[in-house]
Amino acid sequence: MEAKSKKAGATRLCCLCNLRRPVLKRPKTLQQICRECFYEVFEEEIHQVIVQNRLFKSGERVAIGASGGKDSTVLAYVLSELNRRHDYGLDLFLLSIDEGITGYRDDSLETVKRNEVQYGLPLQIVSYKDLYGWTMDDIVKMIGLKNNCTFCGVFRRQALDRGAALLKVDKLVTGHNADDIAETVLLNILRGDIARLSRCTSITTGEDGPIPRCKPFKYTYEKEIVMYAYFKKLDYFSTECIYSPNAYRGFAREFIKDLERLRPRAILDIIKSGEDFRIATTTKMPEQGTCERCGYISSQKWCKACVLLEGLNRGLPKMGIGRPRGVNGDHKKDTKKPGPAVKSIESKQCGSLDF
Ligand code: SF4
Repeated sequence: MEAKSKKAGATRLCCLCNLRRPVLKRPKTLQQICRECFYEVFEEEIHQVIVQNRLFKSGERVAIGASGGKDSTVLAYVLSELNRRHDYGLDLFLLSIDEGITGYRDDSLETVKRNEVQYGLPLQIVSYKDLYGWTMDDIVKMIGLKNNCTFCGVFRRQALDRGAALLKVDKLVTGHNADDIAETVLLNILRGDIARLSRCTSITTGEDGPIPRCKPFKYTYEKEIVMYAYFKKLDYFSTECIYSPNAYRGFAREFIKDLERLRPRAILDIIKSGEDFRIATTTKMPEQGTCERCGYISSQKWCKACVLLEGLNRGLPKMGIGRPRGVNGDHKKDTKKPGPAVKSIESKQCGSLDF
C-alpha cells in the first residue's frame, strides 16, 4: 500500500490542471504542462493581448501577412479560431508577397496556397515583378548579395500596403513575435536609430499611414509558436531565404537566445525597456510627408522605394544606399561609399523574420 502511494506520488501532473501528464516545459514560464493546457494558455494570452489593446473592431477587414513560415501560419490559424470562438466579427484574408526568389518564395507560396484551403481564408498575392518590374533574383543578379535585403525590405513594406489596399482591408496583422521585437529593440539601440526605437515596441503602428499594422504576437515567445505549430501539426514552410546574409541581426538574435536560456523573462524585459524609453524633446525626428513620385508616405522628396527603383532602372543600384542624396539631394555623389545614414535604411531587413 505504502509502495503504491509512493509510486502515485512520483507521477508528475500538469501544474495547471493537475489532471493530465505534462508533455512540455513552457519556455515562457518553465511550467510543466499538458498539451491541452498549453493550447489553452497560448490562445488565451493572445486573446487577452487583442482585447486589452483593442486591436480590432467588429466588422473590420483584416489582412494577415502570410509568408508560409511558422509565425504567420500560426497567426492565421489562431486568429481564425479566436475570431470564431470570441465572435470578433472580422473578415480575415491572407496577403502574401512574392519577391521573386526562386527556390524559396515559390515553395513557401505553395504552403500559403494550401493554408488558403485549410483555413478557408481568401488569398491575395502581390509580386515585386508586377509592382516594380524587378524580382529579387534580378536584383541580386545586378547588385550581388550585399544590400539585397535593403531593397527587399523597402519593397516589401510598400508591397504589403499595396496588397492591403487591393483587399480594401482596415488593418494588416503580422506574425512578429516577442523574440523579433526584443531583437529589434537591441538592433535599434546598437544603431542609435531613435526614430525606430521609439516605435518598434508599439503593438499597432502606421495609424497615420495608409493601413495600420498590428502585432498580436508581441508577447508570444518564438519557441512556443514552434511548439504550437508542431503539436497542432500545422502546415508551414521552414527554409530560410537563400539570399539571407544578415550577420548583424544574426548576432543580436543569438545574444537574445543566450539571455533567454539563462532567464526566460529577459525577452519580455527587453520589450518593456523598449516601451519605457523616452525620447528627449530636443531630439530631431523625421517629418512625415508624401513621396512626390508615387504618393507613398516619406520623410524625403522621394520615398525609399522610388529612389532604389530609380537606381536599379538607371543601372546605378547604389544610388539609394547611403546618405539620402540622389533625388533627395545630390545625384552625382551617390555612387560613393555608403555614409553613416546607411543604418536608417538597412534596419528594415527581414533576415529570418517572418514578415
Ligand atoms: Fe528579402 Fe528577407 Fe531574403 Fe533578405 S532575407 S532577400 S529581406 S526575403
